[in-house]
Amino acid sequence: MMWVTRSIRRPLLRFQSANFSSSSPAALEAERSVRESPRNDWKKDEIKSIYDSPVLDLLFHAAQVHRHAHNFREVQQCTLLSIKTGGCSEDCSYCPQSSRYNTGLKAQKLMNEDVVLEAAKKAKDAGSTRFCMGAAWRDTVGRKTNFKKILEYVKEIRGMGMEVCCTLGMLEKQQALELKEAGLTAYNHNLDTSREYYPNIITTRSYDERLQTLEHVREAGINVCSGGIIGLGEAEEDRVGLLHTLATLPSHPESVPINALVAVKGTPLEDQKPVEIWEMIRMIATARIVMPKAMVRLSAGRVRFSMPEQALCFLAGANSIFTGEKLLTTPNNDYDADQAMFKLLGLIPKAPDFSENSSKDFEHETIEVAASSSG
Ligand code: SF4
Repeated sequence: MMWVTRSIRRPLLRFQSANFSSSSPAALEAERSVRESPRNDWKKDEIKSIYDSPVLDLLFHAAQVHRHAHNFREVQQCTLLSIKTGGCSEDCSYCPQSSRYNTGLKAQKLMNEDVVLEAAKKAKDAGSTRFCMGAAWRDTVGRKTNFKKILEYVKEIRGMGMEVCCTLGMLEKQQALELKEAGLTAYNHNLDTSREYYPNIITTRSYDERLQTLEHVREAGINVCSGGIIGLGEAEEDRVGLLHTLATLPSHPESVPINALVAVKGTPLEDQKPVEIWEMIRMIATARIVMPKAMVRLSAGRVRFSMPEQALCFLAGANSIFTGEKLLTTPNNDYDADQAMFKLLGLIPKAPDFSENSSKDFEHETIEVAASSSG
């Protein structure tokens, strides 16, 4: 193994001088993404034509954008802990934590501080740099005592040197400010799917209420984490619609989780057919081209993908995974298998980022690139 130092500028130069015999929308928009600042004025049909490009072309050009905007070897490891499980009043059709479905899940109260902090420490020791806490609530209104406890958890975990994220349902303005004050890095609130398909999945809160929460998070100066789930029975237009809504927000989310449905027995979506790897790659690659600086997170459903399949997701622009035994309530990938994957693929765990604007321009940074020595 030989180590060479080279500027990340090189991939850009190569990219510019490449012979673009392909003029697929993916190629054209990827080239534009590299040359210009991120756009917020995407038209839905522009995103659709990127999404519909020949899949290997889409993958190749998303990889180019990824290498321009990020250190392509870095993958952030995050751990997501369900700190308050089940008994949720909402009717999200995919969710085993809804009290409306009989999934056999036992509802639990908010975890105590020592249990949460111990889990965060364990996650940090295992290489996670972001700790996410999820609570199965519609919102945090009227939960003053529990909310105060969570503010304490945020402070403590931030004090351990980790990024901290919460997903607690809908937030009001004041609560977002309090979470910011406590040191919260990011707030997760997924849009799940397109505005058009959304009523087929959830009826107990509206798409606009979701967008309102994202606005409160953004206004409080907290990074926005918002993505969706594929495999809910939606059409490809809905996947494009979801990406279009995210990519036309006033600022792109810093973090975009792409989930593949994990169908749980007892939920209305229990019989959905599993998502194919090429569907994930199309979503990840399109997200990478239209929101070049976002962290694209390969989230739920990863457990079904082999290492080579996950490698294609990283190539397409995914740069974060969730580690740990469970992803809220569903099984997750094995720790040792993940470590072996990092080693084999030459991935580097990403350090935590506490800058106010965590979207970095790597164009002028110098990185070390490991190159296999052939001689
Ligand atoms: S709000 Fe969250 S916890 Fe509640 S049913 Fe929907 S996804 Fe599940």
